[in-house]
Amino acid sequence: MNEKVKSEKNLNLKKNQEVSLTIEDFTKEGEGLGKYQGFPLFVKDTVIGDEVKVSITKLKKNYGYARLVEIIKSSEDRVTPLCPVARQCGGCKLQQISYDKQLHFKKGLVEGCLTRIGGFEKEDIEQKMEPVYGMEEPWHYRNKAQFPVGYDKEGNLVAGFYAGRTHSIVANTDCAIQAKVTHPIVEKVLAYMRENKISAYDEKNHSGLIRHILTRVGFTTGEIMVCLIMNGTAKQLKNINKLVDKLKEIEGMTSIIVNTNTDKTNKILGLHCETVWGQDYIEDYIGDIKYQIGPLSFYQVNPQQTKVLYSKALEYADLKGQELVWDLYCGIGTISLFLAQKAKQVYGVEIIKEAIDDARRNATLNHMDNVEFFVGKAEEIVPAQYEKTGIHPDVIVVDPPRKGCDAALLNTMLDMAPERIVYVSCDPATLARDLKILCEEKYTLEKVAVVDQFSHSVHVESVCALKRVDK
Ligand code: SAH
Repeated sequence: MNEKVKSEKNLNLKKNQEVSLTIEDFTKEGEGLGKYQGFPLFVKDTVIGDEVKVSITKLKKNYGYARLVEIIKSSEDRVTPLCPVARQCGGCKLQQISYDKQLHFKKGLVEGCLTRIGGFEKEDIEQKMEPVYGMEEPWHYRNKAQFPVGYDKEGNLVAGFYAGRTHSIVANTDCAIQAKVTHPIVEKVLAYMRENKISAYDEKNHSGLIRHILTRVGFTTGEIMVCLIMNGTAKQLKNINKLVDKLKEIEGMTSIIVNTNTDKTNKILGLHCETVWGQDYIEDYIGDIKYQIGPLSFYQVNPQQTKVLYSKALEYADLKGQELVWDLYCGIGTISLFLAQKAKQVYGVEIIKEAIDDARRNATLNHMDNVEFFVGKAEEIVPAQYEKTGIHPDVIVVDPPRKGCDAALLNTMLDMAPERIVYVSCDPATLARDLKILCEEKYTLEKVAVVDQFSHSVHVESVCALKRVDK
């Protein structure tokens, strides 16, 4: 019998039992891990080095989960979260950890995956990893917020964020990672709703009007968009002019929109938008490239660090001006346009048609005629194009979703054999899996950079440079 199972039986642990332990490790989901007499317990809201009293919430055969009850002795790396509701809110899982340690943790996750899953040597990775690119001021960095609106237990109208893994709203209009202007915007919308008896949406009964308040801010232009997501249409907003007048008082207000979502769904936005005041979109720049952003557009949420990330991708692509480049999983073409500044020709591929509509519009907006976009799956478009033209690109950039690149695409990339591959990743585990395939065949890993796009959350963004070698 497994030793751990035996130990649990011997320990005879029970739900709600309180035990003391020291946090020794930290998971990629943002939970501390400690052992009570050898039995592993995962505890949220902790820091490596904390001595804590915990209450067991769930027991499995070989491990369990527990809730933090009391910190007996704080870790040296523990800090007081800036946000008073950091513990309840599902957004920031790392605010209790000093920012330096957060960066260290994220770098360690990438290193760990590359050695464990990717099969790279530890010394080799340490040599190739750049110092992690963190933020100088890791607060108020987000340019997009989506506040659910509802009622608290006393029936008061509230807006905030969902508590982890639930749909109960933690009331907070002053989020520490959102653009500061978000706070007065949300307060003004709530005040208007109270004064004009506009109801909040109730998920359970599918009744009520306002579901979410969406804000978008162009950090370089100062332009602001407010979008009310409604279980109905703008016509149902009594005295809407009063709301518009109040929001217009905010400097930079550019666009006020109502989005209709009458479906019983967890999806936040519906398909139909009506502009109530101002423009249909706001504009923003990343570096020298201008982007038009509508309520439905995908746009990176941390523009300052996105610039760092894309500049790294561009540096790793090492373009001289004559190159042919593929940008796969290109979204609204943000990286494609960045690359097109230095390449001869860029081809972008993205599965979502609306994103490609945005990408084409943004290419025109920036007078770039050396980019072409394809709608479809990268693993289908790229092999088909390669078969049709037989052309070998000089550089391929990929920025896949968490599941990583499709195996068929990796095979075609190996056949196309570009001189350089730049891999932008939001999941170090799939990154490592894919690099293993590429580096076993024809490539060598040259450089790795971790760029902290989502400070205080567990998300890890990294970029890798690969160079073709003859193996
Ligand atoms: N490079 C972009 C977006 C990266 S997010 C940027 O920096 O903004 C990953 C993108 O891959 C998403 O836009 C998603 O819609 C797209 N995607 C997911 N699966 C895909 C596939 N099989 N082929 C092409 N694109 C895909």
